[in-house]
Amino acid sequence: MRVHVISDMEGVAGIVKWQQVSGGEKLYDEGRVLYTEEINAAVRGAKDAGATEIVVMDCHGAGGAYDFNSLLPELLDPDCEYVVQQEWTEYTAFLESGCDAALFVGMHAMAGTADGVLSHTVSGQAWQNLRFNGTLVGETGINAAICGHWGVPVLLVTGDRAVCREGRELLGDGLTTVEVKEGLGRFSARMKTPRRVRELIGEGARKALANLSAVAPYDPGRPCEIEIEFTTPDRLREYANRKDVEVTGATSLVIRGDDWWSAWSSFFF
Ligand SMILES: [Zn+2]
Repeated sequence: MRVHVISDMEGVAGIVKWQQVSGGEKLYDEGRVLYTEEINAAVRGAKDAGATEIVVMDCHGAGGAYDFNSLLPELLDPDCEYVVQQEWTEYTAFLESGCDAALFVGMHAMAGTADGVLSHTVSGQAWQNLRFNGTLVGETGINAAICGHWGVPVLLVTGDRAVCREGRELLGDGLTTVEVKEGLGRFSARMKTPRRVRELIGEGARKALANLSAVAPYDPGRPCEIEIEFTTPDRLREYANRKDVEVTGATSLVIRGDDWWSAWSSFFF
């Protein structure tokens, strides 16, 4: 069994502040340990479920050279391999080569979610709303659509209560979720301890992988229209002249494609 662990940092237990997820900040060092140990928990669970090849991909933009490079290599379980990508959504080779399931660890809720700890979509400063064929999505939706394009189901989402809810609404009740904290606001939460959470994530990964067809691979629909609303008109400008982009308002644009991936990749890279 080949398993892709796709991860973000904001949804890790113990993390509630930007300083814990931003390269160069003192608190980031602590955040990286918490993050890496949750990944290890998922890797252990996947191994228990019979995974023979586990590839971890960090999707957290921590800034500068830390972008998609927040995991602590020295701490990582030697039974996984991990990818550091230069651009987010750039690495698809493992999905393309035939992967059985994806596990999403450390996820956060979409922009505008009242109880979403560190909630945002792609860029908290620039992006307001993102829709795939009319459905409001966050980063769980983006990563799930990438996996779905190559027929890979997402079986596990871990993070705060808000992103677990968001995941089930998008992917269905077959999705296993592990709630590691309850958001009290964007920068506050009632949390389980990291040590307890690692047990729960290991158990969640093992359980989730017991049924590879519990969740259908996510496909936003064909053809596919991606709509982005930015926070302010100036944020739209850097994308306005791209191929296949239609500006639909002062802060909004759409990109269309035969399928989700062709729309996303024509725009995002
Ligand atoms: Zn992140």
